[in-house]
Amino acid sequence: TKVLLTGGSGFIAAHILDQLLTASHTVITTVRSQSKASAITSAYPSQSASSSLIVAIVPDIAKPGAFDEVIEQHGADLEVVLHTASPFHFKFSDPKKELIDPALIGTTSILKAIAAYAPSVKRVVVTSSFAAIINESHVSDPSTVFSESSWNPVTIDDIHKNPATAYRASKTLAEKAAWDFVKDPANNAKFDLVTVNPPMVFGPVVHHLATLEAINTSNERIVDAIKGKWKDEIPPTGQAYIWVDVRDVAAAHVKAGLELGQKVSGKRLFVVSGWFSNAEIAEVLRKNFPEDKGQLPEEGTKGGELPEEGKRFGYDNSETTRLLGIEWIGLEKSLVDTVTSLKKVEGSS
Ligand code: NDP
Repeated sequence: TKVLLTGGSGFIAAHILDQLLTASHTVITTVRSQSKASAITSAYPSQSASSSLIVAIVPDIAKPGAFDEVIEQHGADLEVVLHTASPFHFKFSDPKKELIDPALIGTTSILKAIAAYAPSVKRVVVTSSFAAIINESHVSDPSTVFSESSWNPVTIDDIHKNPATAYRASKTLAEKAAWDFVKDPANNAKFDLVTVNPPMVFGPVVHHLATLEAINTSNERIVDAIKGKWKDEIPPTGQAYIWVDVRDVAAAHVKAGLELGQKVSGKRLFVVSGWFSNAEIAEVLRKNFPEDKGQLPEEGTKGGELPEEGKRFGYDNSETTRLLGIEWIGLEKSLVDTVTSLKKVEGSS
């Protein structure tokens, strides 16, 4: 099957790409620079030589029409599009320009390009987020149960509150725009839509793309922990407290895009493994990496605890687990594999 994957240089997308190529699909992936394109093609020499992997450059996804050229060029026989590219970082000065525009215009411009130039596309999977599900004012409320049907009430007016809220707004507005697009007959969409909504994603990094300095946002805390930044005090976990492994997130995209057909049509897939806290991360690392004792917080170091059950939200992703049939990778395995991969990156730099 011929698949287009946007943002192939990303942490999650690199795993999707790997799973697609392992299953012998033909993949066109987009990145924003030649250096990232070269890193990907040299990691997959035989697929690149046989054109079962093509890396295309889309320099700015925030530009309306950004994806027209790549879809026009590669749209023939294209069946599936997986749209993962979207900014996930808190290092911006202008949230509208640096987060909202690439998230929102990126999403609408790829959907418009598919409708215009690739009538053979049957399924589009958009990487959304728990950010589009959570309600910030209910995170401490035990009677709130976040599920596939929950929506973050955030609006564009909230983007100057703080960086996390701005990011959540970018994901919420982009996902809403995608559902609105497929619902409006005027857009002439011949495809259906599935979204994948992960909470915090941990897991191994794909070696050829990662550096510890430029680690993706969700693995940043693990790099901090092994670099000794948690030694005196473990930082607060944040508000979200739920996580999933990157290999399961990638598998969810592949299953939703290529394997599960009508069963997942129109669904939001809330891919969650379970609860986590920074305190638990510290404990797992201490147990599994005794050689790093000098960098890791000692037993009894305060901070990063999970609020007790009566003081945090609930969640229910049973529909997603049933639809995907994935046995979620557990926290200890995920963290051990993450740290092992980070050590390889460090060793090679
Ligand atoms: P990465 O930062 O590793 O990947 C983000 C991808 O989007 C990269 O390919 C990046 O390109 C691309 N991108 C970002 N901004 C732009 C832009 N302005 N123009 C063009 N491309 C851009 O993070 P993840 O792999 O974690 O994120 C992938 C997706 O998953 C995103 O949609 C994110 O919102 C979502 N997500 C991630 C979660 C997590 O915990 N990791 C949780 C929930 C959702 P480049 O490599 O050039 O920077």
